[in-house]
Amino acid sequence: MKFTQEHRQIEDTVVKFVEKEINPFVPDWEKAEQFPSHEVFKKLGNLGLLGLKYPEEFGGQGLDFSYSLVMAEALGVCACGGIPMAIGVQTDMATPALARFGSDELRKEYLVPTIAGDYVACLGVSEPGGGSDVAAVKTTAKVDGGDYVINGTKMWITNGLKADWCCLLANTSEGGSPHKNKSLIVVPMDAPGITKQKIHKIGMHSSDTAQLFFDNVRVPRRNLIGQEGMGFAFQMLQFQEERLWGAAAGLKAMDRLIDLTVDYTRQRKAFGKSILDNQVVHFRLAELRTEVEALRALTYRAVEMYIGGKDVTKLASMAKLKAGRLGREVADSCLQYWGGMGFTADNPLSQAYRDGRLTSIGGGADEVMLGIICKLEGTLPKGAH
Ligand SMILES: Cc1cc2nc3c(=O)[nH]c(=O)nc-3n(C[C@H](O)[C@H](O)[C@H](O)COP(=O)(O)OP(=O)(O)OC[C@H]3O[C@@H](n4cnc5c(N)ncnc54)[C@H](O)[C@@H]3O)c2cc1C
Repeated sequence: MKFTQEHRQIEDTVVKFVEKEINPFVPDWEKAEQFPSHEVFKKLGNLGLLGLKYPEEFGGQGLDFSYSLVMAEALGVCACGGIPMAIGVQTDMATPALARFGSDELRKEYLVPTIAGDYVACLGVSEPGGGSDVAAVKTTAKVDGGDYVINGTKMWITNGLKADWCCLLANTSEGGSPHKNKSLIVVPMDAPGITKQKIHKIGMHSSDTAQLFFDNVRVPRRNLIGQEGMGFAFQMLQFQEERLWGAAAGLKAMDRLIDLTVDYTRQRKAFGKSILDNQVVHFRLAELRTEVEALRALTYRAVEMYIGGKDVTKLASMAKLKAGRLGREVADSCLQYWGGMGFTADNPLSQAYRDGRLTSIGGGADEVMLGIICKLEGTLPKGAH
């Protein structure tokens, strides 16, 4: 991966933004279990950071996904996981399909204000009945005149309470292959018939997560993204960017935990010496740092191939799997060396321990990633997932 001056400028802008506009407020936003997403996104939009890879005609910067990678990695300096995740949903999870396959009219109506930071976006795939088996979603969108009429429930939706629109996956026909009867539809979140309920979690507190109920919600048919029946395929493509983003977002975040732990254990004494001076401690931290570098290499390789137009399903799944597992390992091992301090509620390690647990579940659980890797390795038994 060859980074240019422009990549470095974006990294610098993101780091400065996080240090000035996010980190000082994290304790309050974590307590409130929400953050002012419209306000924060507007500031990011003004800096041009919400549409790095999107076409200039829709307000984007016209760059490639390597710039999203740099931004995701730079967001790792954030003192919590929830706000980077909310930003990632806006830039790399709810918008890729609209940007790539949406009509010009739809992109003008929804992508332009989302890139500008005037709209908050969310992605509605998972349901109460299950999130791993995307082909089994139950929400329906039935044609009635010029509208779709949507019924169903979406679960765990990040930005769900504040979002202005949802990129919704719904069944638009009955029967047939479950991979060919679904569509992605842009649903304005102020449409009559939508109700929302906040979900309280063990981590990622500042990110709002909601259950969304759709009761005969009418949306014009022109809000369809691309062709009917392509929703599953579009969502699988959209997941590639989500998973690469997720892997990248963990890198600097893990480095930060290791740095904090080196500093803390260097000054903290036990048995007449620094805790860091115990070989078990500095060796373990060196091992974790090595693992982070290995994940960085894997993630960069996947992104490099992705921007080169290659299918990176296997590499993106590997990076997402490794990011989830390593994130848990780094937070757990580092927390240990902070002793009781690591077990206090507002400690950076305990925060990462809680927040980072999600990576192995959200956006496709570890086992789903393993299933994809095995399928592409040719080792998945017939009929298994
Ligand atoms: C904080 C948070 C934010 C989220 N944000 C969003 C969002 O914005 N939009 C959205 O659509 N979804 C979102 N999700 C949902 C997330 O993607 C799902 O939770 C995830 O896909 C898993 O689905 P599930 O929770 O229904 O678990 P299930 O599908 O019920 O699976 C439970 C567990 O079973 C195991 N499992 C599943 N399949 C297999 C298998 N084939 N083999 C072996 N084991 C298996 C895994 O360990 C899995 O964790 C979010 C979730 C959380 C918690």
